[in-house]
Amino acid sequence: MTKPNAVIFDLGKVLVDFDYSIAGRRIAARGGVSAGAVQEFIDHSPLLFRFETGQVSQEQFFAEVQAATGFRGTIEEFSEFFADIFTMIEPMVKLNAELRQRGVPTYIFSNTNELAINHIRSRFPFFSQFNDYILSYEHGAMKPDARLYEVVERQTGLRGADLLYLDDRSENVAAGAARGWRAFVHHAPEQTREIIARSGLLADR
Ligand SMILES: [Mg+2]
Repeated sequence: MTKPNAVIFDLGKVLVDFDYSIAGRRIAARGGVSAGAVQEFIDHSPLLFRFETGQVSQEQFFAEVQAATGFRGTIEEFSEFFADIFTMIEPMVKLNAELRQRGVPTYIFSNTNELAINHIRSRFPFFSQFNDYILSYEHGAMKPDARLYEVVERQTGLRGADLLYLDDRSENVAAGAARGWRAFVHHAPEQTREIIARSGLLADR
């Protein structure tokens, strides 16, 4: 079997870890409801889906969170509290660097929002080390919606077994596998490294 021609990385829980409870606590400290209630509202309400499909702007998102939580700070404070929830997953960042050193094109494919991406771009230099980015809020669709996978195929110019895709969510992986991509659930960096090594992409040329 030939090698894949590109590696598609999910972002959250693959390249960066995140914890919305941090945002919940910081927003709640300047608001009128509990940290748990804030977290529930931002992480599990239809509002986040609308934000991450680009249906509401940053300003609208802020206004709705403000109304629901009684947050008294500015939009700048809110943006920092909301987005400063990420930590880098070092072995995965290193894996991307190794692939690039070997000339393998890599891409980020993420359900995300503008506040998170602006934050990650400014805080984590590794984020610039990809060929391109397929971000839900720029395309009006979220994984596992097939429309976002079509964007990946358009932007990479690749399809089927040419793409090796890693994501921590099995429903997203299933949607990739259904298109013939080599798609794997990411559980742990060592295991994912092994999957990529078996595909031939880490072998000496
Ligand atoms: Mg993820």
